[in-house]
Amino acid sequence: MSEFASLARSVPSLASKSSRVAIKPTLHAGFGVFAAIDLEPGSPVLRFDRPVAYTIFRTFRREVCAHCFAYNLGQYWKIKDLRYGVVFCTAECQQAWLDRHPPLAREAFSALESFIQLRARKDSDIIKSERIAFGAGFSPDVDEITEAWRSVHDRAALIISRRLSDLSTSTKAQRRALQEALQLPIDDTDIIYFVLSGIISHLTSPSLWSSLESVAPNPRPYTSKTALLSTTYAYLQLLAILPTELLPFTTPAIIHGLMARDACNSFGIWSGTGSRDGDEFLGYGIWPDASFFNHSCQPSVTKTRVGQGWEFSSTLRRVVAKDDELCISYLGEEEDKMSVVERRKKLWNGWGFECMCPKCNSEAAIARN
Ligand SMILES: [Zn+2]
Ligand SMILES: [Zn+2]
Repeated sequence: MSEFASLARSVPSLASKSSRVAIKPTLHAGFGVFAAIDLEPGSPVLRFDRPVAYTIFRTFRREVCAHCFAYNLGQYWKIKDLRYGVVFCTAECQQAWLDRHPPLAREAFSALESFIQLRARKDSDIIKSERIAFGAGFSPDVDEITEAWRSVHDRAALIISRRLSDLSTSTKAQRRALQEALQLPIDDTDIIYFVLSGIISHLTSPSLWSSLESVAPNPRPYTSKTALLSTTYAYLQLLAILPTELLPFTTPAIIHGLMARDACNSFGIWSGTGSRDGDEFLGYGIWPDASFFNHSCQPSVTKTRVGQGWEFSSTLRRVVAKDDELCISYLGEEEDKMSVVERRKKLWNGWGFECMCPKCNSEAAIARN
């Protein structure tokens, strides 16, 4: 699939972000983050300000500030702009969001919001409908993915030519393709939102977007056939509704490239600062450079969400020596309550690797004896 040629990977570097750490190859897990100097306990390590793409689940959209992701404990935030489907915790956040989103980006959010509102009135249960929920749980292979994207290629070309032509000179096939795209089921509004946020990053922050290219793409990123189909439908739907200036950014390479980097690399957005018991799971996002931290069940680094960003600091447990690998826990601080069997099972199911961290290896050895 030549249009996916951009999935080639660039060499990652954190040199512009911090002199305290460096990205280096590891023996087993691709790249990892290493200390470039001795780090005292609790030292700041890295900070990433914003995700390249994210989604706040639709059920929480009125309760989470669109700028800083602050959660209003189940209440709607009062400052809102429902044209764009966004709410804010303060007037400052509203202004900051407007500053970050030029008119074209706002127009795109507005187009998506009106489309979803219109469809929500027509479809009684727009979210997670079962209409196309076949094959859930089976991750499509590369051939199925290639075929799914190939199967929407001609329709996409017709929609684009219809959008870029005068209505009077458009053909019946072009008009029909556009109408059909507008009728396609919306199985998952969160996927469309995630994709649109990535397209907008591509537009407004090319350097943030290009940092995505250093993240290893997953060749099988879709968790089910439904997720694959929802993504190809999201592509056609966005082609049908977005401002035409955004159509050059709305391509299979960009959308599939985003999904391929999202799989296993995204972080959950929780109502608290980390991911602890009792917090609400509000959405997820991808902070590309942050995805180079490998996992350990005895992490040397903790992460704290600050607004739309993450701050990584060395833990209070010990000094990290120069050249040691810096690891976070993918288990969201639940690791202390879990056995080695439970940890390995969760990591295998969620991230596809058998944890060989020192803690797992020593506990597994004790269990064997
Ligand atoms: Zn806010
Ligand atoms: Zn482990």
